[in-house]
Amino acid sequence: MTQAWIAERTKAFDSSGIRKVFDLAAQMKDPINLSIGQPDFDVPDSVREACIEAIRGGKNSYSLTQGAPVLREKLQAQIDAEYGHADRKVFVSSGTSGGLVLAMLSLVNPGDEVIIFDPYFVMYEPLVSLVGGRAVLIDTYPDFRIDLDRVASAVTPRTKLILLNSPANPTGVTATQEEIRGLAALAAERNIALLSDEIYRAFLYDGPFDSPARYNEQTIVIDGFSKSHAMTGWRVGFAHGPSAVIDTMVKLQQYSFVCAPHPAQWAAASALDVDVQGYVDAYRRKRDMIYDGLSDLYEIVKPGGAFYAFPKVPWGTGTEFVTEAIRNRLLIIPGGIFSRHDTHFRLSYAAADSVIARGIEVLRALAKGPVAT
Ligand code: PMP
Repeated sequence: MTQAWIAERTKAFDSSGIRKVFDLAAQMKDPINLSIGQPDFDVPDSVREACIEAIRGGKNSYSLTQGAPVLREKLQAQIDAEYGHADRKVFVSSGTSGGLVLAMLSLVNPGDEVIIFDPYFVMYEPLVSLVGGRAVLIDTYPDFRIDLDRVASAVTPRTKLILLNSPANPTGVTATQEEIRGLAALAAERNIALLSDEIYRAFLYDGPFDSPARYNEQTIVIDGFSKSHAMTGWRVGFAHGPSAVIDTMVKLQQYSFVCAPHPAQWAAASALDVDVQGYVDAYRRKRDMIYDGLSDLYEIVKPGGAFYAFPKVPWGTGTEFVTEAIRNRLLIIPGGIFSRHDTHFRLSYAAADSVIARGIEVLRALAKGPVAT
């Protein structure tokens, strides 16, 4: 009977297929786990200490909805120094996901179209459906580059929002300056909101970071501490953009998340002083290990950032190939979870070198077909 209570808006999508792989991992003895979308290092010591200190110091009540001043003001100063925009305001969200949810609620009316590049981060499409929008997917296979002409021809009078994620989950591909600048200009010309998900901006291997906010002052940016400081469980993110949008997001935060966890915000303020370059250098080396270990046998675009690679399966569908990989104790994610195509797989190299080496060994053995056992 209770099934009848469930709202229609929840029925447009399934629960994340990634969870199914995580559940499998929990049951498996000694899996080779290249499925996890979070850093393999722990929260830096000084950040942990800052959180403990905040709890001991009684920072346990609600914070201001827009964020504890200790963090919000530090972020605002950083953002002002980076962009110098007259109207760019920041607030602290409950993770980057919280910022994403509030942006959708604040911007998308029922029937509005939202442009998403395929492959995409798993939350994008369900969130668009939840708020009654229509996801318009732009296929970026096989090189995962943004074709500005295709974006321009996908724009209609109902287009409200474009979602950009660079460096990207699941491909690890980083948009070029030309792509970013072109998208920023197109959004400005057609008066479309541009949302830039910059959660992987710290993990960049071949050049400096670029944001569409540099070319389009109205860009809405969402970011957070989950990946840069391994704080996935602490739920601290932030969003910045024009004050009309940010004020609306803060208003909705008041009636939903209320605030990000208060002690974790003090910790995040201290995290801004931690240099993560050592981690980035380690991940660049792991990226090279994966690319050098697979590129002779797999069609694989060299990732420029994040900690993912998205190779094409050498036989069968993505699901068939991943099922066989899992039978060989290698946990990876079928590309169909992130895409209309079931032709690739995502692997995360946020793992110990020894695990990556074992993963490469299994993938090399699987390249020619299922492995007899
Ligand atoms: N955006 C992208 C592209 C992500 O990969 C993730 C996490 N997997 C998020 C947003 C959400 O991160 P958070 O933990 O900050 O909510």
